[in-house]
Amino acid sequence: RLVAATPVTRNEEVFERALRPRQLDDYVGQTKVREQLEIFVQAASRRREALDHVLLFGPPGLGKTTLAHIIAREMGVNLRQTSGPVLERPGDLAALLTNLEANDVLFIDEIHRLSPVVEEILYPALEDYQIDIMIGEGPAARSVKLDLQPFTLVGATTRAGMLTNPLRDRFGIVARLEFYTADELARIVARSSGLLGASIGEDGALEIARRARGTPRIANRLLRRVRDYAEVKADGRITGQVADAALSLLDVDPAGFDLMDRKLLEAVLEKFDGGPVGLDNLAAAIGEERDTIEDVIEPFLIQQGYLQRTPRGRIATLQAYRHFGIASPERAPV
Ligand code: ADP
Repeated sequence: RLVAATPVTRNEEVFERALRPRQLDDYVGQTKVREQLEIFVQAASRRREALDHVLLFGPPGLGKTTLAHIIAREMGVNLRQTSGPVLERPGDLAALLTNLEANDVLFIDEIHRLSPVVEEILYPALEDYQIDIMIGEGPAARSVKLDLQPFTLVGATTRAGMLTNPLRDRFGIVARLEFYTADELARIVARSSGLLGASIGEDGALEIARRARGTPRIANRLLRRVRDYAEVKADGRITGQVADAALSLLDVDPAGFDLMDRKLLEAVLEKFDGGPVGLDNLAAAIGEERDTIEDVIEPFLIQQGYLQRTPRGRIATLQAYRHFGIASPERAPV
């Protein structure tokens, strides 16, 4: 799968870490978010205070984890990393919180998957840097208040709408990450090539960028595969032509769609006559989970204008018919 939500292998994780920009200046794109954070981080550092809690949302691979690391680095503090599903019991979170040093960053990925009892602990921690923990069991059990060091929670989620209101309200800074333009991705690919010691032309970088679903993680992943191809099938240099040949071999089409994108669009077009089709029916038809469709596959297709989300379900646009060379039916406007 090219569109996996997370790094697929250990190897890829190592590779991703190596390519991760370490400072705000190397973080390509997301101009608005970057400019805002620059100001807030500087202001907090000058006052020697913890930065306000930050919520980052957007599809996987757009740079949320990277940004959390950059924030900690720019603040000159430690970063502790965990994720919603890993924090099973209140004690898991309490242990992390009580070990934070002043102004540290706690990064919680998939924060929408925190269990309600763990989330309860988080509220007073975020608001007053305090937690209530239970000591002992049965009738002797009592609740004890513990003071925490001031800290910054950076939460990441694929959809802000999945957070409970009380949790969302406790973030002072809320930033939505957008898909990257081809030019931005080309800069990321060029930078990564430099770090990998691969030889690449401008047209090669742009070809990979255009077909990376607006997503840095996918751009870097494709770069690795194209580099392999260039070394084996060409003289090692990644030109536009080499990139095109390699990506076609990988089933990444000129619009950047991978197999799942095509499967989804073709299902809407052919099995459901262009829609509207409900999410559950679509999920059953292509054998994918609802969440994967909503979080990973669909946002890009919608942003690119191939799919529409309506109250009655998903609809393929004229552009989708054209892309697959299917004649569009006469259809009353929805
Ligand atoms: P997320 O947490 O949103 O899933 P990550 O922060 O793990 O995404 O980013 C995935 C990869 O993409 C990282 O290895 C990083 O190298 C690269 N990346 C993400 N955003 C940027 C960016 N703005 N500039 C350069 N590289 C980026």
